[in-house]
Amino acid sequence: MHSSAHQLLRDVFGFDDFRLGQSEVIELLLAGQPVLAVMPTGAGKSLCYQIPALVSKQRSIIISPLTALMDDQVIALEGVNVSAARIHSGRERHENVAAWRAFQSGTCQLLYLSPERLMTDAMLASLKTIDIGMFVVDEAHCISKWGVSFRPEYEHLGQLQHHFPKAVIAGFTATADAATRRDIATKLTSGRAKIMVQGFDRPNLHLAVHPKLNWKSQLLDFVRQHDGQNGIVYCLSRKQTEEAETFLRGHDLNALAYHAGMDAGERRERQNRFMSEDGLIMAATIAFGMGIDKPDIRFVMHASLPGSMEAYYQEIGRAGRDGLAADTLLLYGLDDMRMRRQFIENDGADGDHKFREQKRLDALIGYCEASGCRRQSLLRYFDEDAGPCGNCDNCLNPPQMLDGTREAQMVLSAIARTGGMFGQAHVIDVVRGTSTPKTRQRGHDQLKTFGVGAAHARPWWQVFVRQMLAAGHINLDVEKHGRLEITQGGDAILRGGGIFEYRHIDVGKKAGKTKLRSAEAEAGLSVDDTALLSRLKARRLELAKARQAPAFTILADAVLLQLATKRPQTRAEFAALNGVGPAKLKKWAEVFLAVVNARGEESADLDDLALENYDEDV
Ligand code: ADP
Ligand code: ZN
Repeated sequence: MHSSAHQLLRDVFGFDDFRLGQSEVIELLLAGQPVLAVMPTGAGKSLCYQIPALVSKQRSIIISPLTALMDDQVIALEGVNVSAARIHSGRERHENVAAWRAFQSGTCQLLYLSPERLMTDAMLASLKTIDIGMFVVDEAHCISKWGVSFRPEYEHLGQLQHHFPKAVIAGFTATADAATRRDIATKLTSGRAKIMVQGFDRPNLHLAVHPKLNWKSQLLDFVRQHDGQNGIVYCLSRKQTEEAETFLRGHDLNALAYHAGMDAGERRERQNRFMSEDGLIMAATIAFGMGIDKPDIRFVMHASLPGSMEAYYQEIGRAGRDGLAADTLLLYGLDDMRMRRQFIENDGADGDHKFREQKRLDALIGYCEASGCRRQSLLRYFDEDAGPCGNCDNCLNPPQMLDGTREAQMVLSAIARTGGMFGQAHVIDVVRGTSTPKTRQRGHDQLKTFGVGAAHARPWWQVFVRQMLAAGHINLDVEKHGRLEITQGGDAILRGGGIFEYRHIDVGKKAGKTKLRSAEAEAGLSVDDTALLSRLKARRLELAKARQAPAFTILADAVLLQLATKRPQTRAEFAALNGVGPAKLKKWAEVFLAVVNARGEESADLDDLALENYDEDV
């Protein structure tokens, strides 16, 4: 490894070693080789370009789609005394001018820009007067129409290589299948980029999927297991985010809704609160996401089904970026599945695109119904092989498989005898023998099948029907209002030529009863350590609020954990913690050592100390 790169890692960022994949990318970039790096969220992509930019002492442009992302990166760099500039619409004009001057004069080597701003004639002309060493395209998958989130303004970035033939071009992304990777490399670098793929595995994420029964009580159960932690609850609609906020607040939990229907100021304020407060639950639509670069998100719950495997992977990937244990839960119900199918049908895209999207959704549904290891099936989707993880719901609590052929025949027969014209609600009414105006009007209460499945409750049948759907024995026709149809496989079962195995259905199941490895438990925290950790977090929060900066830019969770367990007594011991470089040492050693070594009640002069410190470095 380039020795000055390693030195920078230690002396500026305060980390002991590079992580898997980081050094390779850094070496290639330092050697002038264009690279497309595909690395999972949390792998540490930022350092992969920040370090080469700083080591080479040449100026670099980082292209990022979102202003919030740029802000976080710049603030985090300032936290380690590296000056970086950003120019975007959320900044005052004079701030943007100052940023440009700093970059132009070379006082700062890193400039963050949006693709729109970069690709203007004026900006390109100005940049040509400066020796630019490297262009870094973050979220590089946005350039590909094959990918899941194509952005037209990214398309122009293909011109960069022609405008700046001497500069190194580097693309970074967390999600791209093989075809998309090749497409990105072609567009950005005419195929010259070396494609580096770091595995998709995120072993610190606990994966779980539960049938959706009553999402509010499942939500409450889940967040209560994560008392005082930061998390995101993804919702399908704006209305659902607001319901979640009201509901959680009604239970004395610190929750906020977030969706694209709010005005920009409101959204920014809520996002800032999420970034800087501890123990905040964000109930959000997918509008909340890409810009969220918070490493200590401890849980992500999907109150509704995401749109695809890629979306799911990306959304859960926002948890546990610091590498510490994080928990995820997806609630999966038939109505969501129908809604998702409809979204795809109605989104106006061409037939090919729709087909691909439906396949992506199919893969996700298959994942939800998987009876084996979740991680294995998730990784298989991204063409990666892995053994059982031992840390997902199915590994921890292997589902019991039962013979459901008879019950499947009941459902199939009800569909057949009602002419394949009805959705699941009515089919279940027939199977259970529930008399409704519709069953009476249509004479379905006279059918032989009426009531044959009365032994099971409605929620049981809902889960059962979903499993049949996932197994492909019945089809859900979204164009015909969700009517159920019998497939070839289903027909075989109906005629006695096939069997159907289903996973044991426990409709009384509470969210996440399985024993989890929490970040704290994993670190082996005693009761005392845990108490100290929460004092450290409280102090960090005060400091963050005073500086209006995200808490993790003060000190990362991983550092607080080390403080709570190793209990350093001196500055030298503090400096030895992984994640503490000279800047963090200078700014925070005193104030956090004081917390570690405080006896009994916290004293008032601790606050004075914090304030002094704050004055000193602004
Ligand atoms: P990505 O952009 O790949 O999602 P980040 O660059 O935001 O990931 O890094 C995620 C977290 O990992 C950050 O908190 C960062 O400080 C930390 N990190 C990065 N590299 C290292 C390393 N070599 N050792 C320890 N922590 C690291
Ligand atoms: Zn598993």
